[in-house]
Amino acid sequence: MATTGIESCANCGSDGKCRRRDFSEQAWGVLLLWKEVQVSTVDQAICDGCYNELREVLIDRADEVEETLAEHGPGLLSAMKEEIASNKERKAS
Ligand SMILES: [Zn+2]
Repeated sequence: MATTGIESCANCGSDGKCRRRDFSEQAWGVLLLWKEVQVSTVDQAICDGCYNELREVLIDRADEVEETLAEHGPGLLSAMKEEIASNKERKAS
């Protein structure tokens, strides 16, 4: 992955202080399920604004995170990984 230069936010597209965030796989999974992010955003560099927004969603809906994971659990995460893998293949080709 290219890490040189200024990366633009994978979520809103703005340039600036973008970096990869330490959201867990589970956190990305529920954000994806709630349609807060696109699969192309998962595990990519995002800006401070988006990071704060997404973090707030996770905090606001902390109860639901547990429920969502209990309900969708491993299926959710493997579906997310498959999506990411196929996205990368698409970019590479
Ligand atoms: Zn952003």
